[in-house]
Amino acid sequence: MLTNTRLVHGQHDHSRCVDAALSRAEDLCQKKNAKLTPTRATVLSILWQSHRPLGAYQVQGRLSKITGKAIAPPTVYRAIEFLLRLGLIHRLPSLNAYIGCPFPNSEHSNLFMICIECGCVAEIADASLNTRLQTACDKTNFKLHSQNIELFGVCPQCSVPTINEDISHV
Ligand SMILES: [Zn+2]
Ligand SMILES: [Zn+2]
Ligand SMILES: [Zn+2]
Repeated sequence: MLTNTRLVHGQHDHSRCVDAALSRAEDLCQKKNAKLTPTRATVLSILWQSHRPLGAYQVQGRLSKITGKAIAPPTVYRAIEFLLRLGLIHRLPSLNAYIGCPFPNSEHSNLFMICIECGCVAEIADASLNTRLQTACDKTNFKLHSQNIELFGVCPQCSVPTINEDISHV
């Protein structure tokens, strides 16, 4: 099983996440003969600014701020399309938002744990889960084309009561 849950749900130096995402992207682009243009790289780093997904409009706003120029929506969508195609980011359908992938170029379950309190999203890839889903589809003659599993709940950070909350109950 691959997951970034410990990182997403724990205190860490997030600048390392951003750096790691950019270097993974460079490696993958080199392997796939694709070009990580400055705009594409900036959009990726915007999506890695936190472990919370962003909508296209939010990406557009941040890109305009960073570049100091008005950015047209097609520019943002083209960059997002490119990153999606390479598997460097994912689209969360229910939120219509995008999140960076912590392990592109590996087997995927497209399974996301979304915290309803803080909005953080962690990803899990589990080969045995994929096998079970494929078996269920085979048994029912359902031709599986794509898979997207969104779990909503409360992350470990948000489920720990804060000291202030304890005092207010006394
Ligand atoms: Zn991080
Ligand atoms: Zn992923
Ligand atoms: Zn949370």
